[in-house]
Amino acid sequence: MSSIVLFGPPGAGKGTQAQRIMDSTGLPQVSTGDMLRAAVAAGTPTGMEAKNYMESGQLVPDEVIINLIRDRVQDTDASNGVMFDGFPRTVAQAEALAEITEVSHVIAIEVPDGRIVERICGRYTCGDCSAVFHDTFNPSNVEGVCDSCGGNDFKRRADDNANTVLSRLSAYHEQTSPLAEWYDQRGIFFRIDGDRAIDEITEDILRALK
Ligand SMILES: [Zn+2]
Repeated sequence: MSSIVLFGPPGAGKGTQAQRIMDSTGLPQVSTGDMLRAAVAAGTPTGMEAKNYMESGQLVPDEVIINLIRDRVQDTDASNGVMFDGFPRTVAQAEALAEITEVSHVIAIEVPDGRIVERICGRYTCGDCSAVFHDTFNPSNVEGVCDSCGGNDFKRRADDNANTVLSRLSAYHEQTSPLAEWYDQRGIFFRIDGDRAIDEITEDILRALK
């Protein structure tokens, strides 16, 4: 059994690639958020412990999350490994993870910050019918008028402005760079150019996983 870890900044198309990796490899996706919610709902001992932390507004300690992962990788659907998404976030977590499952590949989808800002910030939606447009990639046929309903009440999300996106990206880089280095030293870190057609990115990822 060997697992993979998927990294990618917000707006890099990680969700799409995650789905394709699962379809192609058969590995189940393990997100710690989903796992925590499931353990709490199932009322397992670790789930109850996690619930106490969450209800008092505290971060769930690494030890609890690692226990959940230790159980999760024993499940029958995980016999060939799993695909971790959103974990590990720190070198300490990566070290703990290495104790309980072998990670054979860490895939990092990389897109220049400027391109991500362009992708995310150009989005706008019609306030009347929710049709989605993009300044560069999919503008409305007539400026200021919705193609679908003829409305003229376009909305942009406040958290989609360039500064918000850039600060989200800088937090991401700060968090992942020590991890990238740690995995790179172990020879299992693969950088994938995510600023290309979706199919080309998938091909590169699957080639790296061979
Ligand atoms: Zn509309």
